[in-house]
Amino acid sequence: MPEHIVITGARENNLKDVDLRIPKGLLTVFTGVSGSGKSSIVFDTVAVESQRQLNETFTWFVRNRLPKYERPHADGLADLTPAIVVDQKPVGGHSRSTVGTMTDVYSVLRVLFSRYGTPSAGAATAYSFNDPSGMCPECDGLGRTVRPDYGRILDGSKSLADGAIVFPPFRVGTFHGQTYVNSPDLDAHKPVGEFTAAEREFLLRGRGGRVWVKGSTFEVENDYEGLADRFDRLYLKRDLSALSQKTRDLVQGFLSEGVCPRCAGARLNEAALASRIDGLNIAEVAAMEVADLIPVLARIDDPVAGPVAAAAVTALERIEAIGLGYLSLDRPTPTLSGGEGQRLKMVRHLGSSLTGMTYIFDEPSVGLHPRDVGRLNDLLLRLRDKGNTVLVVEHDPDVIAVADHVVDMGPGAGTGGGQVVYEGTVAGLRGSGTLTGRCLGRSGGVKERPRTASGELWVRGAELNNLGGVTVAFPTGVLTAVTGVAGSGKSSLVSGAFTAAHPDAVVVDQSAVGISARSTPATYLGIMDSVRKLFARETGGAPGLFSFNSRGACEACQGRGVIYSDLAFMDPVTTSCEACAGRRFKDEVLRLTVGGRSVADVLEMTAGDALDFFADHGLFADHGDAGIRRRLRALRDVGLTYLTLGQPLGTLSGGERQRIKLATQLHRTGAVYVLDEPTTGLHMADVDGLMALLDRLVDDGNTVLVVEHNLDVVRRADWIIDLGPDGGKHGGHVVFEGTPAQLLRAEGSFTAEHLRRTVG
Ligand code: ADP
Ligand code: ADP
Ligand code: ZN
Ligand code: ZN
Repeated sequence: MPEHIVITGARENNLKDVDLRIPKGLLTVFTGVSGSGKSSIVFDTVAVESQRQLNETFTWFVRNRLPKYERPHADGLADLTPAIVVDQKPVGGHSRSTVGTMTDVYSVLRVLFSRYGTPSAGAATAYSFNDPSGMCPECDGLGRTVRPDYGRILDGSKSLADGAIVFPPFRVGTFHGQTYVNSPDLDAHKPVGEFTAAEREFLLRGRGGRVWVKGSTFEVENDYEGLADRFDRLYLKRDLSALSQKTRDLVQGFLSEGVCPRCAGARLNEAALASRIDGLNIAEVAAMEVADLIPVLARIDDPVAGPVAAAAVTALERIEAIGLGYLSLDRPTPTLSGGEGQRLKMVRHLGSSLTGMTYIFDEPSVGLHPRDVGRLNDLLLRLRDKGNTVLVVEHDPDVIAVADHVVDMGPGAGTGGGQVVYEGTVAGLRGSGTLTGRCLGRSGGVKERPRTASGELWVRGAELNNLGGVTVAFPTGVLTAVTGVAGSGKSSLVSGAFTAAHPDAVVVDQSAVGISARSTPATYLGIMDSVRKLFARETGGAPGLFSFNSRGACEACQGRGVIYSDLAFMDPVTTSCEACAGRRFKDEVLRLTVGGRSVADVLEMTAGDALDFFADHGLFADHGDAGIRRRLRALRDVGLTYLTLGQPLGTLSGGERQRIKLATQLHRTGAVYVLDEPTTGLHMADVDGLMALLDRLVDDGNTVLVVEHNLDVVRRADWIIDLGPDGGKHGGHVVFEGTPAQLLRAEGSFTAEHLRRTVG
């Protein structure tokens, strides 16, 4: 068995003919500044080729049903092992997917209840909320129901004759509305709000009795039907696709979503919920925090149920070991953060018995407090010790420290990177003189002269999720870091309570930049408009010519620059468009130049090069195109100098997306910026740039609020609000507020403990 994965001449994205031998069976960490090419090697080359080769082993029939991968640009890729990518893409899943179902622990619990619960509800599916034999019939196992909102359908201050029924299809005078106004069993002149319980029940669910209703050409005596029953029959208990969109939108306005009244959110039917172990039913077990559930299951020593409970305990201990003991098994996966999702996926792989795989992780320390990084390392090493190759893209010095082998990419970002600048042990990296090596050796003290606040923004009595009635002041005019272990309540406080109380805050998050597939930094930042005008003015051509979405587009590829051929029996191939040589524009447009460069040349420039180009040609000064300069500088200031103006935005990482959004928001004063873990994806050296930017925002009269674990940010903040003491129900309180220097001396804070360790 070969001992290395061998890569020769890799050229994906910015890689410059990289040759690399990655040792098998070891933990290799890839380091380097943001944009240096780490992902291009690990994800776009190794992972893609491994998947592609694996798919090739299937028959074409199967292969056609698998995702298609293009062969990465490289001279050679040899001795790969099957790769499993454990990334931060949201776990997502539908509303039926929970922590318990995704980790398979819930199916172990089902077996446990079917064998050991009393009375037993039956075989295991009897405890499944995804199976008709176990699901609550009212909500079909969703735990929530959508029901008519009678607070909106009825206006209690009016009588039926005066228009108490607000829902238009049932209003006075309508065919349906007559049923209620004309009913001899209802008082049409009494305000509905004053109905007795029995009268209201008859209005909504009543049966029996006849009512005369008039159409335009007929008059008939019908059976009375309660308003609620009629609403359900016409709008809820039917094939909704048969309703027009207009009707659906109308009805939507009269519904409200809530916890299912039949199962109280437990998702299961009565039989499943009646079955108990130690007084708890399966829904109650799934609602417990993992850390609390472990001792409950560990107590079961029955000869039949014991081994099953032990299997669940093993899996739960892995969840706890990775710092997620505050989660419950019934937590829906769409509500998990990217970092939580990645760590849960890891739990699943730890339980698998596969060996000889290549596991690939993307910054697994995201969202983890320094306290828990040691536990993350243990899990990475355990995967390795099971006989796997583990590749990790990481910036955290505590993770880099446990690598068997380091590959440092650089020296810079974008076209300035793409090379391996160091390969070897961590000790060797420290002495290598590369940027990463130098950063590893450094340490810095806490900020000695923090700014003083200009005022305060309060959150009072916040109780969202685990927050225990938190009342806290956020100082204005300074940089505040909100810290605490995962699950302590940082997002609940900042993204939840704070932004609800102060909706004018500028929230810069990592979610997708929701525009078209053709968006680029140039279009997103509005640079393209100025570039088009500039080219039109300087060359005399029409502005529309200088857009690859419009008249100037190459006709062969419609401005995409590439041609996709998806052939049934082969890998998909993307070839550069021959007509325009990948340049997206018509020839006649490419001949129109400014300063010797065509509009296509400008799109291939990095933000940094473009800044020089426009300045060198006096284009800013001559024509007052300050807009272009300001926007290009914004890209530079947020650390994205290496992005080319034409790179599709869909290819950006979460951290890059957050920074490009920030670039559009830099010119404010008096604003409150809220950023969730802005150091995501940033190298230690990049963090310096980010800090300089945040400091400038504050100096410009803004307030900056960051949720951060990075101690390099924490020690340089003006004010710290530390939540805890731990995660989940053991968190939700402010355990410290003050300056970094005060935090160093604080007791009862994990953040303080770790700050003392790094500041030395
Ligand atoms: P890292 O992982 O070190 O942050 P990447 O490998 O993601 O760096 O990026 C290396 C360079 O390649 C950067 O200049 C980046 O903008 C560029 N790049 C990454 N993905 C794409 C892509 N799909 N298309 C074009 N350029 C890309
Ligand atoms: P942090 O940001 O410090 O990691 P969070 O605010 O995300 O912490 O979580 C605090 C607590 O609230 C945890 O127990 C978490 O499981 C719970 N929680 C967070 N979001 C949700 C949600 N959407 N539904 C239910 N519980 C949640
Ligand atoms: Zn229900
Ligand atoms: Zn073309």
